[in-house]
Amino acid sequence: MSAQIINGKEIVSSYRAEIKEEVQSLAAQGIQPGLAVIIVGEDPASLVYVRNKAKACEEAGMYSEVHRLPENTTEAELLRLIRQLNGNPRIHGILVQSPLPKHISEERVVEEIAVEKDVDCFHPVNVGNVTIGKDAPLPCTPAGVIQILKKINVPIAGKHAVVVGRSNIVGKPMALLLLREHATVTVCHSRTPNMEEITRQADILVAAVGKAKLIKKHHVKPGAVVIDVGINRLETGKLAGDVDFDDVLETAGYVTPVPGCVGPMTITMLLRNTLEAAKRSAQAQPAVKA
Ligand code: NAD
Repeated sequence: MSAQIINGKEIVSSYRAEIKEEVQSLAAQGIQPGLAVIIVGEDPASLVYVRNKAKACEEAGMYSEVHRLPENTTEAELLRLIRQLNGNPRIHGILVQSPLPKHISEERVVEEIAVEKDVDCFHPVNVGNVTIGKDAPLPCTPAGVIQILKKINVPIAGKHAVVVGRSNIVGKPMALLLLREHATVTVCHSRTPNMEEITRQADILVAAVGKAKLIKKHHVKPGAVVIDVGINRLETGKLAGDVDFDDVLETAGYVTPVPGCVGPMTITMLLRNTLEAAKRSAQAQPAVKA
């Protein structure tokens, strides 16, 4: 039997339609959610991601501004811009596109973003809150993966989920969100021996490695749900995931395509988090008397 290819386009467009409706009803109260995206340098892939984020904001009826800074921007200059955006009432979410140039500390930058405007859940306070199950914006890529599983009605509770990759951006928070959904979670990484023995036990297998086509059919249990977070540029110029899509097709139960599923879902979660941040900021404003 051949795997079902998860229809990312359909999931993303129905989710974004819901967000757009909520943005419109917020607009009726005079509030427009606003996202600021900062990019330092000229990394071509990052420029594409930033453009896609700004476009998605506009399509959803949100306000967006992109700050393109030169490669030689100092850390102090970047921190100053973040402080300005922290104090700007039009902006509800701030995202600093990674990677940053080597002379700028990502850790320092993330800590400067106001906790309530940290819409990608990078700030240590938000990471801590998510870890202990308190209310916080959920990290966009892992939250997108959970939404994909929910949209295709895959049960998560009690299932064995294996995450390949342990980065702070994807692997670790992915494991955490799967735990919050009551999965039994195993994390594999670059020092895991005989990885296929573990991945073959997965009902849900999430690959977040950054190595094109690493996951083959011998890593996959028959019928498993395979979610591919990886985005890798091949020598041919084409994009490929961390999963060898054609190879796993006969074994997996479901598989996500790359591009066109986790990537756009990540942006959708960014819109969702910005919208929620705008709602919270509206609630925090003192009521104006007529
Ligand atoms: P990273 O380099 O920070 O982390 C990679 C992880 O993979 C590490 O924890 C490492 O231990 C593990 N790893 C490396 N080689 C391995 C191997 N041979 N076997 C098992 N584990 C191995 O990368 P990241 O930021 O987590 O990103 C991972 C991938 O996801 C990249 O392709 C990235 O472009 C992509 N990504 C996609 C989105 C999206 O929106 N779709 C978002 C973020 C990252």
